[in-house]
Formats: sequence, C-alpha cells, structure tokens
Amino acid sequence: MEKLKYERPVITKLNTGCLNKFGTKTTLTPVLQIDGVPIKKIIKEYGSPCFVLSEKTIRNTYKTAEHIFKNYYPKVQFAWSYKTNYLNAVCNIFHSEGSWAEVVSSFEFKKALANGVPGDKIIFNGPGKTKEALLLAVENNALIHIDHYDEMYVLVDLLKEIKSKARVAIRVNLDSGIYPMWDRFGFNYENGNAWTAINKIFSHPELELVGLHTHIGTYILTADAYKIASQKLSDLALKIKEKFNKNISYIDLGGGFASANSLKGAYLQGSDTIPHFEDYARSISEGLLNAGFESSELPTLFLETGRALIDDAGYLLGSVLANKRLTDGRKAIVANFGVNILFTSFWYNHKISPAQEFSYQTEDVVLYGPLCMNIDIIRENINLPLLNRGDNLVVHRIGAYNMTQWMQFIETRPNIVLIDTKGAIHLVREKEDVTIVTSQERVPEHLKNFDL
Ligand SMILES: *Cc1c(COP(=O)(O)O)cnc(C)c1O
Repeated sequence: MEKLKYERPVITKLNTGCLNKFGTKTTLTPVLQIDGVPIKKIIKEYGSPCFVLSEKTIRNTYKTAEHIFKNYYPKVQFAWSYKTNYLNAVCNIFHSEGSWAEVVSSFEFKKALANGVPGDKIIFNGPGKTKEALLLAVENNALIHIDHYDEMYVLVDLLKEIKSKARVAIRVNLDSGIYPMWDRFGFNYENGNAWTAINKIFSHPELELVGLHTHIGTYILTADAYKIASQKLSDLALKIKEKFNKNISYIDLGGGFASANSLKGAYLQGSDTIPHFEDYARSISEGLLNAGFESSELPTLFLETGRALIDDAGYLLGSVLANKRLTDGRKAIVANFGVNILFTSFWYNHKISPAQEFSYQTEDVVLYGPLCMNIDIIRENINLPLLNRGDNLVVHRIGAYNMTQWMQFIETRPNIVLIDTKGAIHLVREKEDVTIVTSQERVPEHLKNFDL
C-alpha cells in the first residue's frame, strides 16, 4: 500500500443537528488542468500568479449566445465590449467570430482600429468623448452614441467645421425595473428627455439618427428588464417613423447579462440563479417582435454583451505564501495574488479550487492577498483543504474586467496566456517588471543624486 502523505493535525468543530436547507456542503475537487493542459506545467513555464484564457470556452460561449439569439430574432449583431477585456488576442477571437467592436474611449477606439476592425463597425459609447475622439470617430465613419447635449453640440460644431456628417444614436436611460436606475448616462425616456434629444438631432442636418441605445446596468438577474427596455426603445423608434418617416436601423440593448459568478451576500450560487441566454433572448424578442414594426422594417438587434461572454474563459493561477492564525482563532492563508490583479473579488465570491490532490480534511479560512493593505481580501470565508506554502490555487470565472481594471499597485502585473483550441499555450501579454513601470517616470535633475 502506498504510504499516506503526512498532514498536520486540524481541529474540526462538529456541527450536530440538522443539515442546513441547502443539503450537504458541496465537496471540493482539485482542478489539475485547463483544456487538457496541466496547471503545474503552465505555472512552471509562465510563473505564478498567471492568468489563463481558454480560446475554446470563449468561442463556445459566443457561438452558443449567437445561436440562441438568432433563433429568437432574425437580425442580431454582437459588438465586443472592449472595456470588459481588451487584450488584442481576446478581441480578435470575438472579431473572428463576427463580433463588431464597442468602445468607450479614444484609447479603445484606436485599439479596435489597430486590430483591424473597420471604422464603420465600431460603436462609440460613453460620457467622456473628447473633441479629438469625436473627430477620430467621424473620420472613420463610426456609430457615435451621444450621451449628453454638450457632446451633441461639440459634435455638431465639429461637423460644421470639417463639413462632414455623422451616423449617430442616442443613449437612453429608462426605468426597466432595475434599481438603482442608471440615469447618469444618456437621456431619460420617462421624462421625455430622450424624445427632446431625438427632435434636436433631426434639426441638425449634419447628424443622421440611425439607432437607439440603452445599457440598463450590469449583472442583471431579471431577464424581463430587457423586455421593458426593448419595448421602450421600440416605442421611440416607431414614433420617429411616424413623425420623421425615418426607419431606425438598429436597437442596441447594451450589455448586462449576468455571468455565473456568485455575488457577495447572495443567498444562492450564481450558477444556480442567473438567467440563461435563452431567457434574455426570449424577453428581448418578445419586446421587439410585438412592438408593431412592419416585418420588413424590423431593426437589427445590437448586443454589447461583456461579462457573460468572457468570465468563464478566464482563470487566475496562484500559490499559497503562508498559513497564519488570527487572534480570534480563525485560520488565514496568504496567497500571492491580491485585489490588485483580482479586482472583481470586491463584489464576487469567486470559486477557488486547489490545484493538487488532497485528503478529505478541510477548514474554513480567510484568504488574503499579498498586499500590505487591509482591504486585500480575496475571500472573507472559504472552505479549503489543508494547504501548505507553495501549493497552488485556481480562481475561476475571472475573464471579465480583471485584465482591464487591474492596478499596478505594490506589485507588477503577471503573464497572461491563452490556451488555443488545440491545446497549445500562447503568451498573450508579457508580465511587467520594474523597468516597464519606471520607463514612464522622469526624475528631475536635482533629484537624481543623494547621499545617505
Ligand atoms: C460595460 C458596458 C457593456 C458591457 O457590459 P456587461 O455588463 O459586461 O455585459 C456594454 N455596453 C456599455 C455601454 C458598457 O458601458
């Protein structure tokens, strides 16, 4: 018989009495590979921590979503939300699947152009468009989604100056039953502001209104909110047809579909509670198909889905740095990845798996990151097997927002690798080092030398 591995003793409190209402606790399983590639191999070659993306999962998720939406509605066009994950490799996977680009800054706009997205397939959203950014968008014939009147006036002045025209939409905010309502972006539907903005656009011959846009929020758990949103935008489109005899060519319902992550404080696991693409598609198609459009004049449905298309495809691999005992008796583990690179741990209880075999003993621990900063907590409470320094962990569903919202704070950022559909590993963003970070710094001459 094989000799069992020594494990330090642990005291487990026995909870006598009933099972809790969710039944017995979910058992932990080690995660040893991603798409057939051993995790230990990735860590050996690319270090720890290291981000991993699965091309197979990205493509499968996209294909599933597109297939479902096209079953429910005849004209659907996805546009990849750059801010969700603007690694060029990731964007290009979506573009190769047929997705356009949705950007919210001139930085993202330039990234999309450099990736080879034709300007007229770039949707330009956001409240912070500068005059230079608007010029770039006009020159590339992009779809400009106007957020407020000041932007509209700057754009009209610019178009007069360069004697040009632009294809625009307005962003509409509306009450879809999701609170707090995101009314800081765009023009309000209920108080008539959106209709005023539309009338203003028709008074400017430089502007051609081609679409209507809304983005009601993110991680929306009620699919019906999209039905309300699509009804309200359809109502505006039909009114435009009636008053100006102009067909609105698309209705853009933004992003916001939930990913399977569990929100902090949520009663049940995200994977058990979130709506399926099918639920969102049904709600949206009911809203659009029943609105009263002539069938030959149905607007194209644009979707700027972000997190629901990429979260599952991302993993963060890391290592245990230390075990500690806190003064109140709780066990703590210090990992080598913190909120600096796992921004979403502020609102998600990410699923975390051990990356090696273990015995049946587990313990509840606080999982800290390595930052010398009190807020650096990955999980307030998580049940893990007994881990030692050097053991590895896998954080699941981290594809959305972490690789864009990460901070260069205390530590530099790690490697990101992509596993392609054949199982080959590609480095898609090289880790930073101190020279990368300091190369942007300038030290004034009088501060260059000192004696200590
Ligand atoms: C962030 C954003 C998206 C993507 O949102 P998700 O919730 O990640 O799907 C889409 N459209 C706009 C305008 C956004 O700001």
